[in-house]
Amino acid sequence: MMPLRHTQQTLRWFRSQNMEELQLIAQHSLWHDGEKSRGQYLCPIPATPWKAGRWSLRSWKNFAQVKNIPEDQLYECHGIWCARSPQSHVGPYLHAIDFLIPDGTPILAAQSGSVERFSDENNVWGDDPEFRDSVNFIDIRHAFGEVTEYCHLKKGSIRARGIKVGDFVKCGQIIGETGKTGWTDRDHLHFIVFRDDEGNPDNPLQGRKFKSLSIRFLSH
Ligand SMILES: [Zn+2]
Repeated sequence: MMPLRHTQQTLRWFRSQNMEELQLIAQHSLWHDGEKSRGQYLCPIPATPWKAGRWSLRSWKNFAQVKNIPEDQLYECHGIWCARSPQSHVGPYLHAIDFLIPDGTPILAAQSGSVERFSDENNVWGDDPEFRDSVNFIDIRHAFGEVTEYCHLKKGSIRARGIKVGDFVKCGQIIGETGKTGWTDRDHLHFIVFRDDEGNPDNPLQGRKFKSLSIRFLSH
């Protein structure tokens, strides 16, 4: 267990999260109990390589190499190269997945559910925490109190699909497309399944309490 003093700190939602606090919170055993998602989810990336400009499935690995992502931080998930992010995928974000896909790739709802909230008005990005508030994202609520979240989406790409808060979207439906926004230095989709954790007294997060869950994708 981590020192209790951290429970006195107010953590804001990730777009304005204090990274030092996050690193401290990350030591809590709560995040490392191996809890798995109870839902079943599709990989949110289209099964066939999306011909977005010069990109293809093969080029995604090349892209990772070009960006000098260390080999030991690369892994494959559902046929797509992903990168570990040991700085930011900790604590409540432990099970986040960074899919290394090119900007302009359509993003699929990983399961049917209702659109809880989204932001797609931003159009800036950079490799600096000051860009955290500029991330475009969408949250979709599913069964078991679980929510899927998709980050670093392109400006206007959610509204362009006629999606509104409260809408019901179907599993596999296109809900937006990637396009670097927020705090990032590379083309990718940041994806997590999280569970609201309001009822857990061990959760050290003040304010919004949540926890990412480990998942295994259904095949397309
Ligand atoms: Zn990420």
